[in-house]
Amino acid sequence: MSIKKLTVFFAFASIGVAMIITISLLVSTRSMKKSAPIFSTGGSFKNIIMLIPDGCDDSVLSLARWYKNDALTVDTLKTGKVHPFMANSLMTDSAPGGTAYSSGQLTTDKFIAVGPRRNDLLSIFDGDNMFEAYAPIPTVLEKANFLGLSTGLVATSSVTHATPASFGAHVDSRFKEAQIAKQMAFNGIDVVMGGGRKNMLPAAACNVAKEGEPTGVRADCLNLEDELISRGYNICTTKEEMMNLENDKAWCSFASNHMSPDIDRQFFTPTEPSIAEMTEKSIELLSKNDDGFFLMVEGSQIDWAGHSNDPIWMVTDFIAWDNAVKVAIDFADANGETLVLALPDHNTGGLKIGNYKHNYLDRTVEFARDPLLGMKMTSIGVLKGLVNPTAEQLKARVAENWNVKLTDKDVSRVLEYNEAYADKFLSNLNTNLPLNYALSRIVSEEYTIAGWSSHGHNGEDVPMWIYGMDPEAGVIRNTDVGLMVAEVMGGLEGFEDVIYVDVEKFGLEWSVNVLDPTNEIALVEGHVFPLNTNHVLTDDGRKNFPSLTIYAPMTGKLYLSAAAIEWIKEQE
Ligand SMILES: [Zn+2]
Repeated sequence: MSIKKLTVFFAFASIGVAMIITISLLVSTRSMKKSAPIFSTGGSFKNIIMLIPDGCDDSVLSLARWYKNDALTVDTLKTGKVHPFMANSLMTDSAPGGTAYSSGQLTTDKFIAVGPRRNDLLSIFDGDNMFEAYAPIPTVLEKANFLGLSTGLVATSSVTHATPASFGAHVDSRFKEAQIAKQMAFNGIDVVMGGGRKNMLPAAACNVAKEGEPTGVRADCLNLEDELISRGYNICTTKEEMMNLENDKAWCSFASNHMSPDIDRQFFTPTEPSIAEMTEKSIELLSKNDDGFFLMVEGSQIDWAGHSNDPIWMVTDFIAWDNAVKVAIDFADANGETLVLALPDHNTGGLKIGNYKHNYLDRTVEFARDPLLGMKMTSIGVLKGLVNPTAEQLKARVAENWNVKLTDKDVSRVLEYNEAYADKFLSNLNTNLPLNYALSRIVSEEYTIAGWSSHGHNGEDVPMWIYGMDPEAGVIRNTDVGLMVAEVMGGLEGFEDVIYVDVEKFGLEWSVNVLDPTNEIALVEGHVFPLNTNHVLTDDGRKNFPSLTIYAPMTGKLYLSAAAIEWIKEQE
């Protein structure tokens, strides 16, 4: 931990500096790769806003611009290029992609801010230079919290989805969303907005919900909303409630799982806010902290549009995200001390302008725009409630909502792909997904200018838009982005020895009980630390610490904050 860097970049964060000096007595055995200076900062920043349009590249800009018939906000920003990959593939998943941006570290497919496993690394990597396998990797959000800044996460998916989770949680699978929700609820994040209410509430089987109250999926029967309320948070579930928020701490779950695609909201969930509205409110709440804030905003569903090969979903959700960038830029313009970074984590679907179907001279402005303008909603909306539709049902839905007259041949191709995809995507619970992929693919090819390369992620470079500093020439790695953001906060090097200390190194007696899902705890020198929370149980109730208690089942290691270790020693 470099105190010098801290004083240069965050001179105002005096509490953080004092704590770091105290805790630096602890032994450091793990090391984070030292960050190289990548950007010429030309000054310090009080606030950082990172906006991620999950799963796209430059092609979406061209199509979105034609559709909008106007410039995009990002068109006005300085640009750089980022080469995304993860530890075990040159096409990154959102979990390691998010981890690269949140921490500057490479990790494994599906891992959320924990070190990469070593047995399947890409041949170009030497595991020696990587973070310890399965150990929690400190994030820039956690550093911001530690420095006394306010922090926020906004997403249009469940807030426990891979990208936001990578900033506020540490687990070895993005699919452990109940655990992610618990870690996030106890990780001191001031403002959280998006979907995912089901992950906050007890399962129906717990029998704890009062009459008329919604239930969720939490097998541990915890009500995380009640927990947050007891700690001074406001809970909100509608746009109107969000608009009326005044307190600085808020957790808003606008959907049980994911929010609606932007263009579908008007039809299905009109009480949900847009991503721009969530961003504006979050900035309003977070900017009440004179010391500054860190905010990550994810346009989560651009990626899903790419998976589907749905051009209207991709373009409209990208424009919605671009509107959120405008909110951030307007704030940064007025504020003068704010860095805004906007960048995808990877491309998805491989959208290109042009496909195999059409002749070069067919490619008019009208051909780019008109089919998209005829689409009133996404493929998700088109197929809503339609289970195993007949050819006539499918034709009627598509004609009504996409202004496309499917031929018999189109329909048989859609059904053929549907069957093939159903075999491939059987494990997915959304039964309409294969049909969604099939319909979007055929309609794209036959009736639009959009060409696609796959239903998965892609490995090419993605753009980065920057406000507040100049990018250096050339292409940087995705991990460099995380290191650069960390650098603004004085770096993350050695911060794991402050917030995620391996208890084994201190000769303490400890054990973990994870057999009872309603009472997962660590016992350290007789003190009860509920797992995935930031506190120890005491005679008076709880004592809170700056970071979470995390157990890594794959290595059998337990991590506590250095402050918790100090406290345990004081009790002896
Ligand atoms: Zn992603």
